[in-house]
Amino acid sequence: MTTKRIAVLTSGGDAQGMNAAVRAVVRTALDRGAEVYAIYEGYQGLVDGGESIRKMDWDSVGGILHRGGTIIGTARSEEFRTRDGRRKAAFNLIQHGIDGLIVIGGDGSLTGADIFRREWNSLLAELVQSNEISAESAVEHPNLLIVGMVGSIDNDFHGTEMTIGTDSALHRITDAVDAITSTAASHQRTFIVKVMGRNCGYLALFGALATGADWVLIPEAPPDVDNWQDVMVERLKAGTKAGRRHHIIIMAEGARDRDGKYIGSSDVQRVLEAGLGEEVRVTVLGHVQRGGRPSAYDRNLATLLGYEAVITILNAKPEDEPVLVGTKANRIIRLPLMECVEKTKAVAEAIAVKDYERAMGLRSSSFKDAFRTLKTMVRALPHPPEPGQKKFRIAVFHAGAPAPGMNTAARAAVRLGLDLGHIMLGVSNGFEGLAENQVQELNWTSVSGWASLGGSVMGTNRMVPKGKDLHAIARTIEDNHMDALLVIGGWNAYEAVYNMISDQVNFPAFNIPIVCLPASINNNLPGSEFSIGADTALNNIVDAADKIKQSAVATRRCFVVEVMGHWCGYLALMGGLATGAERFYLPEEGITLAELQQDVADLSRGFRAGKRLGLVIRNEDANPVYTTNFICSLFEEEGKDVFDVRPAILGHLQQGGDPSPFDRIQATRLASLCLEHLINQCNQGNTDSTFIGLQNGHIMFHDMRDFDRMADLKLQRPREQWWLQLKGIANLMAKLAPES
Ligand code: ADP
Repeated sequence: MTTKRIAVLTSGGDAQGMNAAVRAVVRTALDRGAEVYAIYEGYQGLVDGGESIRKMDWDSVGGILHRGGTIIGTARSEEFRTRDGRRKAAFNLIQHGIDGLIVIGGDGSLTGADIFRREWNSLLAELVQSNEISAESAVEHPNLLIVGMVGSIDNDFHGTEMTIGTDSALHRITDAVDAITSTAASHQRTFIVKVMGRNCGYLALFGALATGADWVLIPEAPPDVDNWQDVMVERLKAGTKAGRRHHIIIMAEGARDRDGKYIGSSDVQRVLEAGLGEEVRVTVLGHVQRGGRPSAYDRNLATLLGYEAVITILNAKPEDEPVLVGTKANRIIRLPLMECVEKTKAVAEAIAVKDYERAMGLRSSSFKDAFRTLKTMVRALPHPPEPGQKKFRIAVFHAGAPAPGMNTAARAAVRLGLDLGHIMLGVSNGFEGLAENQVQELNWTSVSGWASLGGSVMGTNRMVPKGKDLHAIARTIEDNHMDALLVIGGWNAYEAVYNMISDQVNFPAFNIPIVCLPASINNNLPGSEFSIGADTALNNIVDAADKIKQSAVATRRCFVVEVMGHWCGYLALMGGLATGAERFYLPEEGITLAELQQDVADLSRGFRAGKRLGLVIRNEDANPVYTTNFICSLFEEEGKDVFDVRPAILGHLQQGGDPSPFDRIQATRLASLCLEHLINQCNQGNTDSTFIGLQNGHIMFHDMRDFDRMADLKLQRPREQWWLQLKGIANLMAKLAPES
């Protein structure tokens, strides 16, 4: 059997994470025994052939995971739009014996790939006729297999929930808006921030949600009144009256009014300067959004997509239609490519003919939910309660170790609760504060600015109440007439609530609905694939590892990086995947001496073969004896002729920092769902306690009594952990170049 030959190219606009995708494609293909070529400069390279088509080996994609842009280049090619250009492209592929193509690009690039594939037979027939290729070559490659994945910061593609680059672009936007917010607040100014998105308001909407912006303009949902300018001014003025010191307006570049007329940032500036009588500044973020290092999420998404693309193409039958690999409900999926391209184009068409209802209808439910939530969050003050409406007293607090995003969740819960007409109580310092009656009523502005703040403004601690603490807590609940509790926290928070409900017979006060919202950098809570804070911690690890790696460019050095997680290896595995670590040690697997011996031998072999840098990630509790220092000493001793070793214990920097956009978005989403759930329970007189979780794309409220069934109480982690299935892919990517 002849070796399968496939090629990969990046095309259209670049996006952070494209390199991770190329790396995964190359390494998976080599691992599966295929030959793999990179086409440089997108379709133009395919048309040009020659040096633009290069065979890749394991090391040609080393050290690129952390780099923005695309190392194989991208271009817009007018020539490929012509049949003659595509004939040249087909000739070049046949010359190399390639008949499988993985395209990383936007809808234009993927449409081009489909056209190319449909013309393949006729292009080859032409090439045979003109004697450019032999009839045998044409027979050998009767079909061109296409697999696409979307590299686009806009997240504008139907079928996949996220596209490569979007999360990194949101990082750039939140960083910029956070910075602008601090200067805006100092000067009591209004800022307009323009972000990318011609036909898709994803970046504007989620950027606004993540930064606590005060107004948003997106293409899919133009302002629904003709005098929207007056409404906007009036709302912002109301905000100032309610105590806001500044305003941030985020607009997508494709923002328009109901008549389809583009709204320029200078139009908005003029309206606001006249209406508010103050200075209004415009910041156009532009290409900053496309640039910079990819986020942890983009590196991992792109790696998983790249892997899946190769598996798909190697298993495809010759007649298979083009496939899109994408993500849905946190899993990698395959979809019919052209159907997705058509539905993507349908949104742009709907916007072009001003059918905004259809455009919005084509967006995902989370997009629509986010828009609804945002409309509440940007209000200056809550809606007045309905006459005669029952007002519940709902307490919100943080518990357990701090996790970035806790404040964001509390802010969303408080505002949504107030807007629905209820009384929101804030408890300071977790369960200790609850026992000590540290309770105060929160209003709309009490939570201003919390969307982007790391740590915990209300305070949190790890106390798990027992004995007399439970008495004191029962009294606080009764004295404050609390109808429901929202506990935002990690393992200790869950344990505390579990203890409370196990003691309901002795403490009738605990017969109220309580919901736990997962917030822990360890991502070790049952019922939920993600807990708030884990994405920020992962990005902290990736940032630190990138820097650590750079510090060793001139030496042959291996770093042993210790990360948090207790007995849950999520951060170690996902951190390993995102940083390209050679090895990761997980508490789920432990560490054996035999493995360490093998690892040191592999590292020595790698360094002897020219490798300059090694990275090993160890979860803090992977093994009580083979500690980070032990591993360093062992490696140092065994590898002393070849490389040296340094430990890097990342410690609490993993828990710190402002929350990542993903954590902010998740926190807002989960908090609003928790609040709705509690209010429903109060209305129905249902006192079951629950913990919320997002699994397989579904939101579930699990009965708190199932906590011990779903989690291992001794090892403090869920009995099932979805991410462990990614171990094989992480191991594959980390392998050394095969010995020749
Ligand atoms: P994106 O892929 O980001 O949407 P473009 O629309 O600019 O970016 O497309 C990138 C490239 O893909 C184009 O320069 C062209 O080479 C190719 N392409 C796009 N549309 C077509 C088409 N209809 N036919 C052939 N090639 C196309």
